[in-house]
Amino acid sequence: MRAAVMHEANRPLTIEDVSIESPRAGEVVVRIAASGVCRSDLHAWHGRTAFIKPPVVLGHEGAGTVVEVGPG
Ligand SMILES: [Zn+2]
Repeated sequence: MRAAVMHEANRPLTIEDVSIESPRAGEVVVRIAASGVCRSDLHAWHGRTAFIKPPVVLGHEGAGTVVEVGPG
């Protein structure tokens, strides 16, 4: 899949092909149709959060379709 990846604070995101693991217990894989970038993402992009470390794909408020379900 392609994603906008943040590698460094305050630098442009880069569009890259990324891969993900199969879902583990209690997880799902969602094919994202759209995602906003909220103030929390903006804080991460500015390097103002301790818990989000690059490289990271911002945009945790996505909407889409569940395409794979992990155990449980
Ligand atoms: Zn948010």
